[in-house]
Amino acid sequence: MNKKTFFTKKLLEWYHPDERPLPWKAIKNPYFIWLSEIILQQTRVQQGLPYYNKFTQKYPSITDLANAPEDDVFKLWEGLGYYSRARNLHFAAQTVANTHQGVFPTTYADIRALKGVGDYTAAAIASFAYGLPYAVVDGNVYRVLARYFGIKTPIDSTVGKKEFSVLADELLARKQPALYNQAIMDFGATHCTPKTPNCSTCLHQKHCVAFQTDQVGELPVKSKKIKKKDRFFYYLVLNKGTEVYIRKRRGKDIWASLYEFPLIELDKQVEGFFLMEALEASSAWKALFENQPVVVKLVSRKYKQTLSHQKINALFLEIEIKPSFFDEKNNMIAIDRKKIKNFAFPKIISNYLEDKKD
Ligand code: SF4
Repeated sequence: MNKKTFFTKKLLEWYHPDERPLPWKAIKNPYFIWLSEIILQQTRVQQGLPYYNKFTQKYPSITDLANAPEDDVFKLWEGLGYYSRARNLHFAAQTVANTHQGVFPTTYADIRALKGVGDYTAAAIASFAYGLPYAVVDGNVYRVLARYFGIKTPIDSTVGKKEFSVLADELLARKQPALYNQAIMDFGATHCTPKTPNCSTCLHQKHCVAFQTDQVGELPVKSKKIKKKDRFFYYLVLNKGTEVYIRKRRGKDIWASLYEFPLIELDKQVEGFFLMEALEASSAWKALFENQPVVVKLVSRKYKQTLSHQKINALFLEIEIKPSFFDEKNNMIAIDRKKIKNFAFPKIISNYLEDKKD
């Protein structure tokens, strides 16, 4: 038996589906599987599970999701981060409703064509829902294969992606693609983990190149280290009696379609006296206040949120404004402060609001 066939055989022997039961594992409903896969992109299972339950309860069919207002979908997604996933989810549901008559596509190509669905997600849905022979390649799979076969090609390079994809396809148990895909992902998630793999009890130990050559910690290889950019946000919490101003973020920047307080972004961290000087000099401040004197009543502590490519540093400035001040300016709306929880905000603002509850 060659090494690849042996790997697949051993992996299937190792796998006991009942040991890690999850609601989407026991089903064939492509819509629910797709939901779970999108939710679990960049999200741990324990964090994603309540969201999966909320979505399947509120939108039991893909048509229900397609017909939902975008704000409702964002509100349900709040706290999961990577909001482009929610936007794509809603868009893809509308594509299925309008182009596929509400029936989830049944071929790999049609599934892959949905917005927000990449190679991995398409293979997962095609194999889990329809038993089609497509091998998944996610972070777990890269790690397991790099270690077992001793592959040093960077997994984030074009050549590496191709090499791992070809190998994964060769290893796939074609008669049991769903079982095999689940097995290799579970093996990576629970056994051959990034930092503390269970090599001492591993059934692959004898044939695992990384273990045999003492390179477990070095594999898989990545070529690029992402350098996160720092951004400095100054939110203006404009209070007018019982109301506060918010607006919907637009454009292509992070958090589009979520709500926020009016925001001034500066290119560096500024505090104390210099903060007001910098804010008042900004065109955004001038557009908002038009040289009217403004009294900042409170400046919050620093809040931070780390995203995949950037670090957001935020301060919240509480300002009491006059009744006539801002109506219909800068896309802002005045809302009753008690109703603020009905709107979906980025996590950094939710954290601030959470602190303000006390
Ligand atoms: S021996 Fe260690 S590194 Fe190799 S497959 Fe097993 S757990 Fe992973």
